[in-house]
Amino acid sequence: MAPDVGGSNPLTHPTITQVRSSYPRTMRSNLFRSRRFWLAWLCLPPLLFTVGNCVDTTPSVAQGPAVLTPKGTGGHNDPSILTHPYVVLVSFDGFRSDYLDRFETPSFDRLARAGVRAEGLISVFPSLTFPGHYSIATGLYPEHHGIVGNRFYDPVRTDEFNYRDSDDARDGSWWGGEPIWVTAETQGMVAAAFFFPGTEATIANIRPTDWRPYDASVANAERVRQVINWLTRPADRRPHLVTLYFSLVDRAGHDLGPDTPGMSRAVEGADRLLGQLMDGLNTLPHSKEVSLIVVSDHGMAPIDPERQIVVRDLVDLKGVKAVATGPTMSLHVGDDQRSHLLRDTLNGQLVNARAYLRAEIPVHLHHRASQRIGDVVVIPDEGVQIRFQRDASPPAGMHGWDPTLPSMHGILLASGPRIRAGQRIPAVESVHVYPLMANLLDLVPNPNIDGDLNVLIGILKVPVLR
Ligand code: AMP
Ligand code: ZN
Ligand code: ZN
Repeated sequence: MAPDVGGSNPLTHPTITQVRSSYPRTMRSNLFRSRRFWLAWLCLPPLLFTVGNCVDTTPSVAQGPAVLTPKGTGGHNDPSILTHPYVVLVSFDGFRSDYLDRFETPSFDRLARAGVRAEGLISVFPSLTFPGHYSIATGLYPEHHGIVGNRFYDPVRTDEFNYRDSDDARDGSWWGGEPIWVTAETQGMVAAAFFFPGTEATIANIRPTDWRPYDASVANAERVRQVINWLTRPADRRPHLVTLYFSLVDRAGHDLGPDTPGMSRAVEGADRLLGQLMDGLNTLPHSKEVSLIVVSDHGMAPIDPERQIVVRDLVDLKGVKAVATGPTMSLHVGDDQRSHLLRDTLNGQLVNARAYLRAEIPVHLHHRASQRIGDVVVIPDEGVQIRFQRDASPPAGMHGWDPTLPSMHGILLASGPRIRAGQRIPAVESVHVYPLMANLLDLVPNPNIDGDLNVLIGILKVPVLR
């Protein structure tokens, strides 16, 4: 059960003591077998008097706060990590699940044959880039990791987060939970990121060893080349976890609309990039130890330009902090009575949308526990947008709606030494990817998550429950 989220402090990062005390029995026995556990005992006598030399050398969650190195691995794998497998996590932003069947995708098909393909990856609400990716990375719903939109307002902090503002994207105090690269770096495993929302921020004092400031103009082939390059480093400095991100399919979906034949260009471009990546991975001496996980953060649906809702035409928003994120709108009212009144006034007029008090938002959206969500949220039907003013030329495609809508489903494909070949599984929620990655990497997962390894355990050859 993930913790409740307040306003400015979205998730208290679990302290080391909390993590340790909630380890299930299997994790604890792994801990006792680990080199770091015994090293911690060796360090204990000097610790009673002073913080000794051996204290700051080995990054680990297993040793307690005194031995945690705040900067992660410092670029060197702990010797115990050298025998761990590798995971490459690739995201094709906005890749809707049906593109795989509508277009020529020989590389995706090759990956599916080698491992598993889910019918879809069910995004989170709102099905937008920043919340969606960060849920994949942390195993938490946005209400628990705190990135509740691409843009949102924090009423306690009295500040706004905007994903287009690199200061916000890099400010770790916005980002809650424990993304997989923080799990890795705290347990002595080098992580590297060629983009992925969250990887620019110092979260709980840690960032991937290698990371890049987001720059959409970096050629996609260059991203693939760099990832392969990282994986050819000497074992001591070689990342075991690598993220990679591409926006070409999302861009085309917005510009052209998801149902147009013109989408083929971007989808087939994504397929070529995947092919280059897989070919590159196959050249590595340790290729048999690498798991490849391909995801997308959400799907795409056509916008109906005639069904825009201009919120100011319906209610007076004076004194209300209103934030539009994707097709929905959050209203920070700060007053219970006025929130009720706004909800009722809106619902008296709204067609194709509904206003909710935060506590009333449908349970399946998992979108209540953070004050950043707003006091009243206006959620439209698929294809409908809530706007401040009429948009004369809206994009052809959009996302952000209920993630259980088939149009909002993304993709999940994976192959690797522990994954059985040729499996097709039903659509799965994206919060379950984090525990899968932790398992494939032989890392101890953060136990305070919404995801559950059991959901995907069937795809493993020999399930190893940690
Ligand atoms: P959305 O507005 O939800 O469609 O978000 C997709 C856009 O987010 C893409 O066009 C990317 O250029 C942008 N994007 C993706 N990752 C990042 C990042 N790490 N930092 C800033 N912008 C990003
Ligand atoms: Zn996206
Ligand atoms: Zn998009």
